[in-house]
This record gives sequence, C-alpha cells and structure tokens, in this order.
Amino acid sequence: MKKIYLDYAATTPVDNKVLEKMLPYFSQNFGNAMSVHSFGQEALEAVDEARAKAALFFRASASEIIFTSGATESNNLVVKGSLRSYYSAPRRAGEKPHIITTKFEHHCVLDACKFAEKDGLADVTFVAPNKEGLISIKDIKAAIKPNTILISVMYVNNEIGTVQPIAEIGKLLKKINAERLEKKMPHITFHTDATQAINYFNCDVDELGVDLLSMSAHKIYGPKGIGLLYVRKGTLIKRVQDGGDQEFRLRAGTHNVPAIVGLGEAINMIKTPATQKNIIEITKLRDYLIKRVLKEIPKSYLNGSSEKRSPNNANFRFDDVEGEGLILSLDLDGIAASTGSACSSGALDPSHVLLSLGLKHEQAHGSLRLTLGKHTTKKELDIVIEKIKEVVKRLRKISGNVLADFQ
Ligand code: PMP
Repeated sequence: MKKIYLDYAATTPVDNKVLEKMLPYFSQNFGNAMSVHSFGQEALEAVDEARAKAALFFRASASEIIFTSGATESNNLVVKGSLRSYYSAPRRAGEKPHIITTKFEHHCVLDACKFAEKDGLADVTFVAPNKEGLISIKDIKAAIKPNTILISVMYVNNEIGTVQPIAEIGKLLKKINAERLEKKMPHITFHTDATQAINYFNCDVDELGVDLLSMSAHKIYGPKGIGLLYVRKGTLIKRVQDGGDQEFRLRAGTHNVPAIVGLGEAINMIKTPATQKNIIEITKLRDYLIKRVLKEIPKSYLNGSSEKRSPNNANFRFDDVEGEGLILSLDLDGIAASTGSACSSGALDPSHVLLSLGLKHEQAHGSLRLTLGKHTTKKELDIVIEKIKEVVKRLRKISGNVLADFQ
C-alpha cells in the first residue's frame, strides 16, 4: 500500500538538498562553533552563513537572528524572557505587567502565558477570534492597558490555517508606541508566531512591524529540533536559559551546527521560483479538495475562513462523526491526517482552537485537518476524498446504530 501524507502542518520531510548540505557537519566538520581553533572556525562560518540567509529572508540584521531548538523554545523565550527583562528593571512596588495574546495560540504560547498568570507574574488578556477564526484589530486595541508590555498574535493558525492581520496590528502598535514614548509609558513589544506562515506569507519584519518572530525549520522541509527567534535590536528581552555566551547571550547552549545549516538552506529555498510555482499548485489542490468534500459529503463544513486561509490547509467538520475515529480509519488505509496539532493529538480533549471559534464540544471533536505540501498530487487527493466519503458514511452508520441500541 502506497501511503499518502497529508499532515504537512505537523512536519515536512527534509528536502534532499537540505540534507546534502547538512551531512558534512555531523562527522567531517564537527567542530564546536565557539572553539577558537580551525575546527571551530569552520563550524562558525557555517553558522554565520545560515544566519545571513535567515537575516536576508526576514530582511533583518544577522545579529537579530537567534537560533533556538524550535518554535516551542522561541515562544517560551518570548513570554518568559520579556517577563525576566521586566522584573530585572527598576519598578514601583506592586506593579504587574500585562500581556495580550489570543485564545487559539499554540499551547507553547498559551500555556506560558497561563503559567505567568498563575504564578502572579503577569495579567493576561486572551482575545477570542471571530467564528471565522480571525482576530480583530479592534479587539487587540481595546485590550491594551497602560501596563501592557507584550502582544503575541500568531500569523497563521496551525489547526485551521487562518491568517491574522499581523501587518495591520504592527501598524497600529507603531502609532500607539510613539504616543506611549511621549508619555513615558512602557513600550509594547509585538511578537508573532510565524511557524505556519513562513512557507507562504510575507515575513519581512519591517513590513509586518514585529519586534519578535518565531519559526521552526521542520515545517519548511528542514530538520527537526531547530528554529529561530528574530529579535529586533533594542527589544526588552532577557535569556531564560543560563550558560554560555552563544547567540548574542540570548540563548545559551552549544550550536546544533548541522541543523542550523539545514535551516539556512531550507529558508533559502522558499523564495526560489520553483517553490513559488509550487505554492500556486498547492493552492489549486487545496481548493479542489475543499470544493469536492463540501459538495460530496452531506453535513460537512469548513472550519475557518475560506479566504483568509493558508494555501495548504483544509480543516473539515462532519456532523455525527468523531474526528479521532476518522483519523484512525484513514490511517489504516495508509492516509496520514490529523484532528489538529500533532502536539496535542494524544489528548482526547476537544480542540481549544475550535472551541475558541464558538463551536460546541461535539462539533469541536469532529474535525479533520488535511495539510498539503510540495509532494501532494491530485491523484492522491482523489483517493483520499473517496476514502473520507466511505469512512464518514460508515462511522455515521455506526453512531446511528449505537444510538439505536441505547433507545
Ligand atoms: N507554533 C506553531 C504555530 C506550530 O504549528 C508549532 C508546531 N506544531 C509550534 C509552535 C511548535 O514548534 P516546534 O515543533 O518547533 O517546537
């Protein structure tokens, strides 16, 4: 059985070109990038080259790129590092900072904020998206308080693929921060988790107006366990991991040189004409998939806006069908799909993302996320659509029978 992979938002295969670039740095050029001898210098050169490629992609300076172990670490650094910076500066007794984020962020942002709140380190406002999965700029503006120090809004939601108005929020904050500077009020740092956006959307940090931006290489055909945090010069943030002086003293720990090289190569591939052409293809395939599923399966719905949506994301809901059952059945047929983010798929809790859209518990349980990538074909989608039709029908029949048994 030839397997079909439709879970590119969970992770992507490492591109052959990326792998080729990485290989020499495991055993041949294995030096520690902080060593002064030639082995170290060779490794440092490779790290610097990757840093330059990332800086070019984000239109940032090389010294604003901080390599981390992935977006989870970058996002933790944002929340905890901003608070550490706040608490290391002089302040009046009893003052507490305020953070704004959204209800449907990835758990690494959400839980870091919840813990900060529980530990009494910050007050947090969790802004809800509308039922289309979009955050309103008005709601962000209304949530700002005199003690707000950080706003974190994800660029593309990892479950439903909806695209948030980051550049518009950035523009608003630029104006607000200019006024706050005059009034000697604290600057509001603006962060976006761009992990699911990098492949498809503009990530020029000046055009977005962000101070901090997180990403992860394994979502862009690079290796796992490596990511970065863009940190605009002058941003109030302190490291949370103590140790060596790596990464401009913002992230201690020996450089993962092969992975950093892989990230550099993967990020460099995004703006190539081949990748850009592929995005157009992926968008067409996604539209084909959505159109057929909604037309051919009764009581099926698309979760999240159909317009402000990542080119590779289709997230469906089927009445009277448990998402988990659907995923398991598809897996038996060699089709890899997901109910939401891979990180929480071990839990049977309904998706916090779908609940934040105002869906009921039973609706939030019935979702199917299919995310496309550069190896997806129309032929694969045709097979998958037929399978989904078959499985949904079967599961509905079973749930009908089960209900009948109870009556
Ligand atoms: N943020 C988002 C939006 C994500 O999709 C993911 C990965 N599912 C993460 C953060 C965590 O990234 P990593 O796997 O690099 O820790």
